[in-house]
Amino acid sequence: MTDPTTPATAEGHDGNLAVKRAAISFEFFPPKTEDMERNLWDTINRLAPLDPKFVSVTYGAGGSTRERTHSTIARILKETALLPAAHLTCVGASRGEIDEIVDRYHEVGVRHIVALRGDPAGGIGTPYSSHPDGYQSSADLVAGIKKRHGDIEVSVSAYPEKHPEARDFDADIDTLKAKVDAGAARAITQVFFDNDLYFRYLDRVRARGIDIPVVPGIMPMHNFKQARNFVTRAGTTVPDWFAAKFEGLDEDPETRKLVAATVAAGQVQKLAKHGVDTFHFYTMNRADLVFAISHLLGIRAKSAHKAA
Ligand SMILES: Cc1cc2nc3c(=O)[nH]c(=O)nc-3n(C[C@H](O)[C@H](O)[C@H](O)COP(=O)(O)OP(=O)(O)OC[C@H]3O[C@@H](n4cnc5c(N)ncnc54)[C@H](O)[C@@H]3O)c2cc1C
Repeated sequence: MTDPTTPATAEGHDGNLAVKRAAISFEFFPPKTEDMERNLWDTINRLAPLDPKFVSVTYGAGGSTRERTHSTIARILKETALLPAAHLTCVGASRGEIDEIVDRYHEVGVRHIVALRGDPAGGIGTPYSSHPDGYQSSADLVAGIKKRHGDIEVSVSAYPEKHPEARDFDADIDTLKAKVDAGAARAITQVFFDNDLYFRYLDRVRARGIDIPVVPGIMPMHNFKQARNFVTRAGTTVPDWFAAKFEGLDEDPETRKLVAATVAAGQVQKLAKHGVDTFHFYTMNRADLVFAISHLLGIRAKSAHKAA
């Protein structure tokens, strides 16, 4: 297991140079309150000059944020030059209802959807059952979207540690293959902290003949304790060396923030050094860490570039 925060060497600088040419994207969640909305927009305005390839907005479990996801996406389209991607799941809705959501997105100008099966209605770990009249799987949803609107680009999920429900890696990668065959253009990974797991997974995926980009999902863990519970439930391993970085910092959010940015920047640098050139950041609606990581990696705001 490799520790991605090994101090910088000449190799580390190579990593920086590689990342400068990287494409980045950001993920946000739809805000619940006016305060959260203001915070999200401060975040979007701070990160937009970094020129992300797209920004995505999640869809609450069971479709709970259907309207909020839509209005956030619509506002991004209206008020920024960013390209938004709307997350959408199959859970708790008929095909007709989902088709309507897709059509509404298409009508307002959305051309990118992140298509997912979604978690079971009873929560992670409970059995999944599809809606009787709904899309039966993520691949089914991808095909449905592509059939209705061929000009919508579809991204899907990928699991370097395999999805917790998958019988084994083969079954997991069969699902990814079905999504690609249905028209998915890109996969974004579940968060991972051990780069070796990502590279091993990529080998398996390529061996299966899947050639779409598999974009690493990077999460700076500013709130380590809370985020650890959340990612562990989703099947992500938190290595001991990683947890050790946050030891004794439960009551020290400022240091935790610095450590989280440093660790995530180190992880990205190592990935870049091995040829990865596209990164998706789980921002948790915070600009500071992702902005700092991007800066450390040599990614500059567009306007700052021009002024230099
Ligand atoms: C990049 C990314 C973005 C996400 N965004 C959201 C979001 O906005 N909203 C949200 O609610 N969730 C989101 N999720 C979480 C996701 O909904 C869950 O992980 C869900 O449990 C699986 O959905 P999926 O599309 O990834 O599943 P799939 O890719 O369809 O399947 C994942 C794995 O589970 C196996 N599997 C699927 N169904 C079954 C079954 N019935 N029995 C046995 N094995 C099965 C498949 O074989 C595959 O290995 C996101 C995840 C990722 C990685």
